[in-house]
Amino acid sequence: MPERFVYADNAATTQISDRVLEAMMPWLKEGYGNPSSIYALGRKSKIAIETAREKVAAAIGADPSEIYFTGCGSEADNWAIKGALSRLAKKGKNHFITSEIEHHAVLHTANALKKNGAEITLVGVDEGGRVSPADVEAAIRPETALVSIMFANNEIGTIQPIAEIAKICKEKKVLFHTDAVQAVGTVPINVKELGVDMLSLSGHKLHAPKGIGALYIRKGVFIDVFMDGGGQERSKRAGTENVAGIVGLGEAMEYAAATMEERTAKVLAMRERLIDGIIGIKRCRLNGCRDHRLPGNVNISFEGIEGESLLLMLDMNGIAASSGSACTSGSLDPSHVLLAIGLPAEIAHGSLRLSLNDYNTEEDVDYILEKLPPIIERLRMMSPLWEKIIKEEQ
Ligand code: PLP
Repeated sequence: MPERFVYADNAATTQISDRVLEAMMPWLKEGYGNPSSIYALGRKSKIAIETAREKVAAAIGADPSEIYFTGCGSEADNWAIKGALSRLAKKGKNHFITSEIEHHAVLHTANALKKNGAEITLVGVDEGGRVSPADVEAAIRPETALVSIMFANNEIGTIQPIAEIAKICKEKKVLFHTDAVQAVGTVPINVKELGVDMLSLSGHKLHAPKGIGALYIRKGVFIDVFMDGGGQERSKRAGTENVAGIVGLGEAMEYAAATMEERTAKVLAMRERLIDGIIGIKRCRLNGCRDHRLPGNVNISFEGIEGESLLLMLDMNGIAASSGSACTSGSLDPSHVLLAIGLPAEIAHGSLRLSLNDYNTEEDVDYILEKLPPIIERLRMMSPLWEKIIKEEQ
């Protein structure tokens, strides 16, 4: 048995908080009415949904009428992109711009659109993982329907110049969507100040349950319906609502907005100590930039190491971490994000993502800093790749 369990994979998912669970419980048990029903039991569910909508909207500076609940962040991304393209293609706008380092919820959606005849431009990033607004501007054409650039990257934590890109898109009269799944609840977001047209978010990244997300669609922006069926979500997203999940998301977002400052200060201090403690290890590098970075993200590549072996050894010591995005672990391809920032494939293979949040403690950081360096050393002693690196060094 490991001495301790340290969960350092909060970018993959988070634990439901007590307050969220408590808020959800009545809607899983006695509050089971269908929100579309006209009797009191149903009306109560409807009121719970609308109260949660107000909380979600308030947390990102939106109007409640601009919030649409979805099944997850991936669904919000799919809807924003496919909905915009299918609507605008009818007007001859069939070009979509996104970045090389998006989550697969966006990149695979782009591939699906391409198969249906859309034109796709992927803008690159610099070595810190930042998209240049000038590159986005240069890629815009008369037939561009939509630009989608993620708010913050899930692997390396890089935060993008969203307001600048949104301004360019507005000037060029092109819709702009941002996948803010990693950022909402972690960094301050105000959709009006940012000037975005659409924004995706997901509950399970901020202590709400899995299976609930939302898409912000600015008033005056029209995209095609993604899910046909009943009249839920103002006839834009059919399906009987996940009342408990929606209530949980509202609670989580209200709490996250109210406690942002203190949580960020705590997480940032832990992250900096963790980076400083690891970066002294021979032949490793911090991926992403240090300034424009999610408060809890640490992503480091170690030469001469296989990320999968590192994760197994960490797991044996009670540390849960990730070597790339959770959705691609299990695949042996190096991370598309690390390749896009210019890492050679063999170094990208030796990467580790530790993602902290306010549930972590200074003791967690101490424990990782105690366990990680000897694990790296042991793995390198067994690594033919490391032997080669050392020989070349001599
Ligand atoms: N976008 C980003 C940046 C993510 O990190 C994730 C999940 O890891 C998603 C989208 C997908 O969200 P969900 O798991 O809610 O579908």
